[in-house]
Amino acid sequence: MKRVTIYILILIGICFLIPIFFTVKFQIEKKIKEEEVPELNVEKYSYSDFGTIRLLHSKTSEVEEIPLDEYIVGVVAAEMPVDYDIEALKAQSVAARTYTIYKLIAGTPHENADICDNSACCQAWISKDARFEKWQDNKQEKWNKLVEAVNETLGEVITYDKKLINAFFHSNSGGMTENVSDVWGGKDLPYLVPVETKGEDAYSQYSSEAVFTKEELLNKLKEKFSDIEINFDEENCIEIKEFTQSGRVKLIRFGNKEMKGTEVRTLLNLRSTNFSIEKNENIVFKVIGYGHGVGMSQTGADALAKQGMKYNEILMHYYTGTEISKLD
Ligand SMILES: [Zn+2]
Repeated sequence: MKRVTIYILILIGICFLIPIFFTVKFQIEKKIKEEEVPELNVEKYSYSDFGTIRLLHSKTSEVEEIPLDEYIVGVVAAEMPVDYDIEALKAQSVAARTYTIYKLIAGTPHENADICDNSACCQAWISKDARFEKWQDNKQEKWNKLVEAVNETLGEVITYDKKLINAFFHSNSGGMTENVSDVWGGKDLPYLVPVETKGEDAYSQYSSEAVFTKEELLNKLKEKFSDIEINFDEENCIEIKEFTQSGRVKLIRFGNKEMKGTEVRTLLNLRSTNFSIEKNENIVFKVIGYGHGVGMSQTGADALAKQGMKYNEILMHYYTGTEISKLD
């Protein structure tokens, strides 16, 4: 009798466990699939899949359709000085192409366009005419150099495990790039981790200062933290609480409020989150680097090119564990 009861209990147990097992398995599979969407495997695409791009001009709200490679030349023209080393311009071309095609596949915040020309939103772009107006001399020669950088890397994109990467880039890393999750939260990406570059201090983007009166500082921080109070007579009224792995400010306290380094950067319009603070009659932010710090540093790319690195080596340096794939 006892044995029969045990068998029945086991049977009931199995009947309950099997559905639970399959439900959990299904949920895990669903999660993996959701993360894989959009499909970024480059083997599924040919270069002709990405013939033209609908570019939103952010100043006029006009949408213009442009052949992809012509668009990339305009991005490189806007994003990098033409007197940079050709290998740096080629690295910028591949990064811009990768970023653009990633957006084409992954979707965009814009309704009737694939991408916009605002660097804070998507990536900068300038027309040939507008670029020529800004250059003083050798205009055609300069433009040809940009076209050469794009043509010599035609169809090339950066991939990790055969999948297109999210190719972020910025102006100057201050010597060390940033972990992607320390800037925008979310999950870490194996190819966007801190890497070091020597030689970025030779560029004007490397260091800057931002000076605020105590009242100015308080008012700017109040835009987001309305109940903030700072007693500037207190020795420790400003205190950096935590640094990111790359040495940027992760968490900082002003008076009674703790905030993220990224929030401070936005509120005070600092060039980066890599800063130290000096308190005298004013509050002085000494800032190193320019930009969010994730992925390729543009001044770093030029520094590495001048040290003899080729564009593919520069890209492998900034996007850890990646390779270049050519879309036919
Ligand atoms: Zn945009």
